[in-house]
Amino acid sequence: MSIDEKLFTVKSVPDKVSHLKPEAGLCCICDSKACTYVCPANVYEWDKENEKLIVNYENCLECGACRIACERQSLGWEYPKGTKGVKFKLG
Ligand code: SF4
Ligand code: SF4
Repeated sequence: MSIDEKLFTVKSVPDKVSHLKPEAGLCCICDSKACTYVCPANVYEWDKENEKLIVNYENCLECGACRIACERQSLGWEYPKGTKGVKFKLG
């Protein structure tokens, strides 16, 4: 099964605010921008023109990889509240 097929089995109910909170100042001086390539759901994009990290938090699978990979340990990360967040379909 490809990653795209696997992603098709996931449903997400996004919260109104992002549960992923990178520190903008530290992201600007981050060399690796590791979050932009470890995330299986392509949540992070680096906007070169505006020197800003774009966070498409609605697509997050809550795997935690970005937090581990963040070289600055600057990534605030918590589970979405209540019934929000990712749901995995079975079968
Ligand atoms: S790896 Fe961490 S510090 Fe670097 S851009 Fe991503 S969130 Fe920011
Ligand atoms: S928790 Fe996983 S899916 Fe969510 S943004 Fe981080 S790496 Fe991507």
